[in-house]
Amino acid sequence: MDAQSFFQQFGTEEQCVAHLKALRESKGLRCKKCNSERQSWLSTRLQWECMACKFRTGIRSGTLFQHSHVPIHKWYHAIYFMTETKKSISSLELQRKLGMTRIATVWYLQQRIRIMMGGADNQAVRLSGEIELDDAFITAVNPKSKGKKDNEDPPKRGRGSQRKHPVVVMVESESNNSNKGKCGNLKMIATESINTPAINEIRNTVLKNVHTARTDAHPAYRQLGNRLNHIFQVTEGEQAGKLLPWVHIAISNIKRLLNGINHFISARYLQYYLDEFVFKFNNRFSSSKFDNLLGHVTKPILY
Ligand SMILES: [Zn+2]
Repeated sequence: MDAQSFFQQFGTEEQCVAHLKALRESKGLRCKKCNSERQSWLSTRLQWECMACKFRTGIRSGTLFQHSHVPIHKWYHAIYFMTETKKSISSLELQRKLGMTRIATVWYLQQRIRIMMGGADNQAVRLSGEIELDDAFITAVNPKSKGKKDNEDPPKRGRGSQRKHPVVVMVESESNNSNKGKCGNLKMIATESINTPAINEIRNTVLKNVHTARTDAHPAYRQLGNRLNHIFQVTEGEQAGKLLPWVHIAISNIKRLLNGINHFISARYLQYYLDEFVFKFNNRFSSSKFDNLLGHVTKPILY
C-alpha cells in the first residue's frame, strides 16, 4: 500500500479505532467471563459490554496494544513503516516519522511489532519439501545476568561482552549441485549452540513437513537423517556457497542488515530481529504486508 492511500485510510485515531473495532468483530468476540458472543459497543468508552453478564472488554484488551498508552494510530503507523520498509527502520528514523518524543517508547513499539511478526510467521508459514540448512554466527551483546561476573565466559575478541551467537538458517530450495533453482520460505532460529539436541528439536518442530535437508558435514546435523532424507557433503569456502546457495545468500543478507543497525543488538532480543527479517522475506511478494500482520493483532505472542 502506498503512503498516500495508507494515510487517507488510517491517518487519524478515529479511523484506526474504527478499523480495529471492525477487525476484532470480524474475528468474533467472546466475553472473558461468561463466554457469550453477544456484545454491544460503547462508543464513548471504546469498550464492548457483554449483553449477558455486563462484563466489559476494552478495544485493546487481548491485543498487541494491551498495557500500552500509545494512541492506536501511532501503533498502526509504526506497523506500516516497519512492514513497508524493505530493510529495517532504525528507532531514530521511526521516532522522527511518528513524531514521538521518547525513544524508549519507540523501541518498545518496535520490539512488540517484531514479536508480532514472529507470531504471524509461525502461524502462516511452515517449511516443506526440500530445504538447505546451515548455521550462522551473529554478533550480539550478552545481557548481564545476576550473580554472574563479567569475567565469566569472556569474549575472545571484540568489545565488552559482545559474542557471536549461533543461528540455524533454513530455506526451501530447488537447487542442486549444477543449478541454483528457486528458493521458497525461510526460517531463522537463534539457539544456545549448534549441537545434536538443538538440531533434533528443530527437526521435530520446524522441519515436520520437510522431506529432504541438504547441509554440510557438521556432526550435529547427522540426526536429521533419522526422520528425513539427509544429503550432506564436506565443503569449504566457495564450495559451500554452491552446495547451499540460498542459505548463504540469506545469511549474508541478515548479517548486512544487522550491521547496518546503529546500535548493538542484545542476545536476548536477537530472535526478534531474525523474526522481522524472516517475516519480510516470506512476505516479499505480498502487496498487503500491513494487513497480513495486522490480522494477527489479537494473538500477539505465540511462542
Ligand atoms: Zn459475559
